[in-house]
Amino acid sequence: MTTTTAVRTGLALRGVTLTYPDGESRLVALDNVELTVAPGEFTAVAGPSGSGKSSLLAVAATLQRPDSGQVLVDGVDAGTLSDRERTTLRRERLGIVFQQSNLLASLTAVEQLLVLESVRGRRPERARRRAEELLDSVGLAAAKQRRRPHQLSGGERQRVNIARALFGNPSVLLVDEPTSALDHERGAQVVELLADITRTHNTATVMVTHDRDLLTRTDRTLEMHDGRLTPR
Ligand code: ADP
Ligand code: MG
Repeated sequence: MTTTTAVRTGLALRGVTLTYPDGESRLVALDNVELTVAPGEFTAVAGPSGSGKSSLLAVAATLQRPDSGQVLVDGVDAGTLSDRERTTLRRERLGIVFQQSNLLASLTAVEQLLVLESVRGRRPERARRRAEELLDSVGLAAAKQRRRPHQLSGGERQRVNIARALFGNPSVLLVDEPTSALDHERGAQVVELLADITRTHNTATVMVTHDRDLLTRTDRTLEMHDGRLTPR
């Protein structure tokens, strides 16, 4: 199956419930969650630690299968796909910025993006140009594009993470606590960047955060409490 022809319609979660084993019983991490995010829409999910935000992103990213409910990416129901098809869906349609930065210590910023290219088989010069343009567009100057992670600040590393998530031209962009390691001003700049990206790349963007001060640039904010998602 190829998903490349599917129209961009964004992300939809329908009645999604996720539980984890918890001693004799089960812990409900996501409780009948409904969420629709259209292309070009920047949605924030705010909630305290342990409320289920990362679980929500893991399910939306098709990395975690829900106990029940549906996850639709551009209208494709992830639950109906084989493992391989789901991997393809992720690669072609999802951009994920994890809470823990997983940049490779030995690679420069440009190489962090290009390492994905080996899977995709695009022409090397074109791929490099695209990587440099994306890093430029997230505000990482040319000289810094040749630095390794330990030679970059936390905010700059976060920008590399975001550029990397954009490299595959995703339809849905999922971002977990992008500001947690940053001071307020740098955090606000990253949120601003995500708002701009959502417009220019027309992504259906979901950012989760426990930092409510940073939500001025979002189109919509939802609250997560004990696995339940409610309007703010
Ligand atoms: P948040 O990102 O909002 O801090 P999480 O989604 O990480 O919340 O966690 C939601 C709840 O699920 C928490 O009570 C957490 O302890 C629990 N949890 C998360 N991951 C697992 C797991 N792999 N196994 C068991 N419980 C988990
Ligand atoms: Mg979390």
